[in-house]
Amino acid sequence: MLGLHVLRALKDNFIYVLTSEDGQQATVIDPGEAAPVLKFLRAHSLHLTHILCTHHHHDHVGGVAELVDAYKCAVIGSQKDFDLNRIPRGTLAVSEQKPLKLWGRSVHILDVPGHTLGQICYYFEPEQMLFPGDTLFSAGCGRLFEGTPEQMFISLRKIAALPASTKIYFGHEYTLHNLDFVQSREDNQALRAYREHCEKLVARGEPTSPSQLSTELAINPFLRAPDVATFAETRAARDHF
Ligand SMILES: [Zn+2]
Repeated sequence: MLGLHVLRALKDNFIYVLTSEDGQQATVIDPGEAAPVLKFLRAHSLHLTHILCTHHHHDHVGGVAELVDAYKCAVIGSQKDFDLNRIPRGTLAVSEQKPLKLWGRSVHILDVPGHTLGQICYYFEPEQMLFPGDTLFSAGCGRLFEGTPEQMFISLRKIAALPASTKIYFGHEYTLHNLDFVQSREDNQALRAYREHCEKLVARGEPTSPSQLSTELAINPFLRAPDVATFAETRAARDHF
């Protein structure tokens, strides 16, 4: 079984560290800065073998170069972001057609344009873990910086089709503010119960990540949108909230 550790970085980013079964190797996902990762790796005597980038934004790749200098690790990103030459120190491009081989296992890639055109998700099927970067947040989704509402709608449908027990390791701690937006438009028992759960976590200084896909299918209006027009209206309202 892989180990999973949640680190915090910058203002509200999550960096995820996977550890191998023998407890000696590490893979880091979206290192927006190097310092918290270096500290964690040294404290646990881990050797960094891979960096997985979900997209090129600086708050997700800002720590890559320093980590490569320290560990000479592989740097993985989407074929699209490689074509645009925007994954720093990138060594291996992946896509839905080109899944990732990591520590002898196969990691599925979902191409999910919308937040950016090169955005991908990493899906670990045996563990049912999804790393969606800034495509899906708890009770929210990423802003459309490069893609169209239709592209993002299709991308979210891909995530919605995964097993409902999938754990979602999203990129930012936006959950309570996202719930403020959702609850300004609708009210139900599922939303109230989930908010109470998240408020307790935050009060204890704990992350609201991971969420579970079944939870998001119940409370996330972007994942629940029945059509592109509803999605686009909800996204536009959230942009101005
Ligand atoms: Zn981003």
